[in-house]
Amino acid sequence: MLDGEISLSRPDITRLEERLVLEALRSGRLSIGPFQEEFETLVAGAAGCRHGVAVSSGTAGLHLALLALGIGPGDEVITTPFSFVASANCIRYVGAKPVFVDICPKSLNMDPAQVERAINERTRAILAVEAFGNPRHMDAYAQIAGRYEIPLIEDCCEALGTSYRGRRCGSFGRVGVFGFYPNKQITTGEGGMIVTDDDAIAEACRSLRNQGRAPLSAGALGSWLHHERLGYNYRLDELSCALGVAQMRRLPALIEQRRQVANAYMNRLMEVPDIVLPTVEDGCEMSWFVFVVRLSTEYGEHERDRILRGLRNHDIGCADYFPCIHLQPAYASLGYTRGSFPIAESVSQRTIALPFHTRLSEREIDLVCQTLELMIKRENLRRG
Ligand SMILES: *Cc1c(COP(=O)(O)O)cnc(C)c1O
Repeated sequence: MLDGEISLSRPDITRLEERLVLEALRSGRLSIGPFQEEFETLVAGAAGCRHGVAVSSGTAGLHLALLALGIGPGDEVITTPFSFVASANCIRYVGAKPVFVDICPKSLNMDPAQVERAINERTRAILAVEAFGNPRHMDAYAQIAGRYEIPLIEDCCEALGTSYRGRRCGSFGRVGVFGFYPNKQITTGEGGMIVTDDDAIAEACRSLRNQGRAPLSAGALGSWLHHERLGYNYRLDELSCALGVAQMRRLPALIEQRRQVANAYMNRLMEVPDIVLPTVEDGCEMSWFVFVVRLSTEYGEHERDRILRGLRNHDIGCADYFPCIHLQPAYASLGYTRGSFPIAESVSQRTIALPFHTRLSEREIDLVCQTLELMIKRENLRRG
């Protein structure tokens, strides 16, 4: 981090995190231990699910969720083009095909009507993402999935601590996956968690993350080198789990601080012309993953990018969350083009993620907003 820079994100680490990580380090048990168990219980509880399976990343968790559901070559999974690339990559890892549908301009989540229209005899699952942590439509996707008897997979990597109409995110799908990269609501450095109420899925995921071993509690002598299925090493070590336990104990306070920062931005930016603020619709309890505004429709990608560069030149961290997945070079083989999903494309060209973390001060928020306003005014002068 540069001196004086206001960073885009920043983990919130206190003495508690230091103490528990040190405890794990000194315990002599650095993998598959009590911190993993406690971390799993805490995250499953926060999501209102019976099982938690800690894994080495959110991406690894999504990969295992699809494997546990038996999704593979020839299958189609409906998902959003407006997300971090991992939510579509996991579909390709198992040899299945991501089928994208366009989003709603308000929630930035998949349009439920288009999800339903995309279902055919090859559709094996719906993979939904709470974009920027917005839980809108999760109940609608769950209903559609139920009607067509296919599973809903919830990529709730951006939505820990969020709920919709009283139901907690992570519990809408047959299986949900959280991520704990350092910019998320809580972090373990790298890490993720699969949550589910389904005993068979939880057991399959526990085995798959651990080289295909049978559950260790089954404990026959020599079971460490007995592999029932093709598995992976997607385990999360005890140091990371200890960090996760400390963060989970502080989750309500962390969310409260994120809310305060989001409210401060909302109040400060309400009157600023030419920007659209995030919408929080009725029933959405946000835990605030990021704070993303967008320019109004008169602005294009070049103007947005110049504003991003201007902010960075003023030592203000910012990002273009998210370029559309279907337009990524890595997705060219799927045959989508510019124009395939007009709303997702139009939104993604105009987004600006602003610095957002628990320690952001009023003065810093004010400086960010002033600079943003200035950069927008400069664009307007340029356009005449
Ligand atoms: C963060 C995130 C993931 C998982 O990321 P990892 O870095 O693998 O933990 C997956 N999907 C979405 C939508 C995310 O935001």
